[in-house]
Amino acid sequence: SNSSYKWRRVLLKVSGEALAGDQAQNIDPKVTMAIAREVAAVTRLGIEVAIVVGGGNIFRGSSWAGCSGLDRSSADYIGMLATVMNAIFLQATMESIGIPTRVQTAFRMSEVAEPYIRRRAVRHLEKGRVVIFAAGTGNPFFTTDTAAALRCAEINAEVMLKGTNVDGVYNDNPKHNPNASLLETITYQDVISRDLSVMDMTAITLCQENNIPGKLHLYLFILFLLSTCGFVKLIWCYDI
Ligand code: UDP
Repeated sequence: SNSSYKWRRVLLKVSGEALAGDQAQNIDPKVTMAIAREVAAVTRLGIEVAIVVGGGNIFRGSSWAGCSGLDRSSADYIGMLATVMNAIFLQATMESIGIPTRVQTAFRMSEVAEPYIRRRAVRHLEKGRVVIFAAGTGNPFFTTDTAAALRCAEINAEVMLKGTNVDGVYNDNPKHNPNASLLETITYQDVISRDLSVMDMTAITLCQENNIPGKLHLYLFILFLLSTCGFVKLIWCYDI
């Protein structure tokens, strides 16, 4: 039984940037393997894990839109396809170490993955399979952060964890301001009013409206840390 843990079902957002690690290539297999191992450790505890993958390591729609006549929607569809590449890579890595994994895409690509079907995703999770949600929300003008908040609410995950290459939420950009300090807890309202770029605002407000992870605190987001050398520390595990 997993009743002794704080969370029964978690949604992990893995950004594309994190997957790139410190490699020149788009994906660092050391990172995907590290993530796979950590996820394996968590599923072994009986905790259900769903993952939303980003695609920024391969293609980010917003930075290409407008270039040589590429409209935003087309650019975003390319970005969504990029997330599918990451999802399949991550799935293959997880299955190579014996974690049963399903990929579900927000738009149909039935030869490579299942279409997103909420009830089916939940069933997979109940059976102990990891479900990777790909292609974001399926809509241009959104991000995979928003997709993560959306899927988190849909599958009733208790918490959304964001795996990225920073160690948490700072009161300012630590890359530019050496005095920026790490915040332990923060409310959604603070994120919005202080314009902290933790996630995009659509994702933040979706979490706020749906009380993810509850108590209007964002602190659980920051518990998953990826260092640039590709080593993953599973801080979120300590808190369950
Ligand atoms: N994207 C989109 N709709 C979505 C999710 C993603 O159009 O619901 C596109 C968008 O162009 C985005 C790209 O997919 O730039 C990759 O996703 P994102 O930038 O969120 O990835 P991450 O920053 O997590 O690597």
